[in-house]
Amino acid sequence: FDFLKKGLQKTKDAFFGKVVSLLKGKKLDDETREKLEELLIQADVGIETTEYILERLEEKDGNALEALRETLLEILNFDTALNEPDNPPFVITVVGVNGTGKTTSCGKLAKMFADRGKSVVLAAADTFRAAAIEQLKLWGDRVGATVIAHSEGADPAAVAFDAVSHALARNKDVVIIDTAGRLHTKKNLMEELRKVHRVIKKKIPEAPHEVLLVIDATTGQNGLVQAKVFKDAVDVTGIILTKLDGTAKGGIVLAIAKELGIPIKFVGVGEKEDDLKPFDPNAFVEVLLS
Ligand code: GDP
Repeated sequence: FDFLKKGLQKTKDAFFGKVVSLLKGKKLDDETREKLEELLIQADVGIETTEYILERLEEKDGNALEALRETLLEILNFDTALNEPDNPPFVITVVGVNGTGKTTSCGKLAKMFADRGKSVVLAAADTFRAAAIEQLKLWGDRVGATVIAHSEGADPAAVAFDAVSHALARNKDVVIIDTAGRLHTKKNLMEELRKVHRVIKKKIPEAPHEVLLVIDATTGQNGLVQAKVFKDAVDVTGIILTKLDGTAKGGIVLAIAKELGIPIKFVGVGEKEDDLKPFDPNAFVEVLLS
């Protein structure tokens, strides 16, 4: 629970601590309802999800805090398990807008799998930025993963293809593919991501087994808008929510769960290599409302 406490400290201090004091031992009256609505919207739960929560609380009647706990668990009731295939390699693409923490999350994921004794290949398919390639190489050195990289400006699909080929030839367990995220050329970017996925399928028809979309929690509702663009373009299978430690608006977790309908599979709570963990809905609600 400690890492979630760290990730949610600001959110609790600013909003959810107040929600708990407001609702503790109470039923929902009009005044409480209004204050709760305000706090939830300030915490970036979003209007749609806030209204949903308030409706559910009215239906449930009884102890308001208990009803809120139940409602949050209902919203977060999704399957966080990874679609890991029986036969390796497990191929994961990581997509999202630049600056959200994509490359860092690839490195942290590599560390997580390496810690479980898996051999990992990192693919530097964000060929648009030389810095991203260098950053991924550093992560490879740090966590003991092989990095497949071409030069800046190379075809991202070719990098992904080489990485998957390498993993098949050398019996590697996991391939993690970092992709580009420049949003000003949205159409080209989405086409590029689709091409990366097409090319991977030439090697392994059911891959990628996971397409993880990185959302920066500090961007709040904007992150949600970006996510919808990616969701429409590629089959996103899970969310990595980064920088939860850097925001008081951790309510975005609830908005993502309710409005995107994609499971949050990992949360990032810092810049260090162990600061990414699988998302546990029960622990999240427990920490948020404690
Ligand atoms: P990319 O452009 O999406 O690949 O983003 P980067 O991986 O380069 O990350 C951008 C910045 O966000 C870096 O300074 C990271 O250290 C930082 N970062 C990534 N994840 C987290 C997180 O969970 N918490 C915090 N506080 N910073 C993070």
